[in-house]
Amino acid sequence: MVDAKAIKDKVSKKINNTRSKISSQITAHKHCRICGINIDAKSEPRICKSADCSSALEKREKNDRMMRIMFFIFVGIFFVPILLSSVGILG
Ligand SMILES: [Zn+2]
Repeated sequence: MVDAKAIKDKVSKKINNTRSKISSQITAHKHCRICGINIDAKSEPRICKSADCSSALEKREKNDRMMRIMFFIFVGIFFVPILLSSVGILG
């Protein structure tokens, strides 16, 4: 025989568990940008204390800077001639 009440209890317990897990994740707020573990909401930069993560973040920021420079070069190559020709310098 299947005890329906016991199953109901189990299920509602499971739901409550999931709910409390979710709400605790909401209150935790921040995650490490590299490995994604929960970190203190006030920690700045947004990474955990692991050395791997700080070096990874450094690499990522260097990469970001490089991408920004590339973007400006790209914009310069494609839009400066258009701009110049639109004001009549290049005819
Ligand atoms: Zn981390």
